[in-house]
Amino acid sequence: MNSVRRRRWPRVLGLIAVVLAAAYWWFFVQVPGPRTEWALDVAEVRRLAGSMAGDKPTEVRVERVGTFQFPHAIIESGGGWGMRPMALFSYQLVFPTHRAIIDTAQVEPLPGGANDAAAVTRLQAAMGAADLIVVTHEHGDHLGGLATHPQVAALMKAAKLTKEQLAHPELMRPAAFPPAALSGYQPVDYDKYLAVAPGVVLIRAAGHTPGSQLVYVQRADGAEYLFLGDTAWTQLNVEQVAERPRAITLLIGEDRGVVVRQLAELAALAKSEPQLHQVPGHDPGPVDQLVAQHLLEEKFAQ
Ligand SMILES: [Zn+2]
Repeated sequence: MNSVRRRRWPRVLGLIAVVLAAAYWWFFVQVPGPRTEWALDVAEVRRLAGSMAGDKPTEVRVERVGTFQFPHAIIESGGGWGMRPMALFSYQLVFPTHRAIIDTAQVEPLPGGANDAAAVTRLQAAMGAADLIVVTHEHGDHLGGLATHPQVAALMKAAKLTKEQLAHPELMRPAAFPPAALSGYQPVDYDKYLAVAPGVVLIRAAGHTPGSQLVYVQRADGAEYLFLGDTAWTQLNVEQVAERPRAITLLIGEDRGVVVRQLAELAALAKSEPQLHQVPGHDPGPVDQLVAQHLLEEKFAQ
């Protein structure tokens, strides 16, 4: 009897190992094929960027609001478990007579991370002085800085949030808009592209969240940027068309097949339009490079 049991053990352990390996593959490695025909018509976006009268931005500035770390395995399906540096960013467009903000970060640091109090102060002041505020999507680390701003009701006059970005307050938790701030607010509603300022075009990219969009920016001197939000957390996600693992996309409710399609389109665009600088949502590497080339300037103008 005992010897029979002993002989079964290797089989049982083998079966457990196979089940665990299959589960790991399913939740951390497997990537679906692309879904939908999402495409980015650069010629049309450039046309729209020139369609509004007025001066384009002369400077694009970055505020490094916070830092945190993610394991590579969380950033990219099939990645290892070593930690990668990540950052919480906000961007400022400086026009000759006015200012705009892209993404508002959040005041509280992300779990395990740290925020720069001076950067938060500069961001909050710059939001108060902006006449246009847009966000790449409705997650708290992009929209929370607006929702929890002490003057949020007044700032909503400058904010151009989309219908979808306001339709999912659960995605912004724990940040929340005070209900009074949204009373009477008319969100923007568009199909594919929307010019919001000279040189600035919103590009619908539902997938990471229902309200996800890319922001195209053309500086007065012709330099071009594409702010990706969290369609790609890092440059690696674009270069390798590497989608986040299922364990994460299930948690955040992301539509993986759509994001895979968007990443493939962005990877092709990086090859065909190398001068269109793609800026992923949380990767310090590309931001450092753009700062070194004076395509981004550190710290917001006040
Ligand atoms: Zn996000």
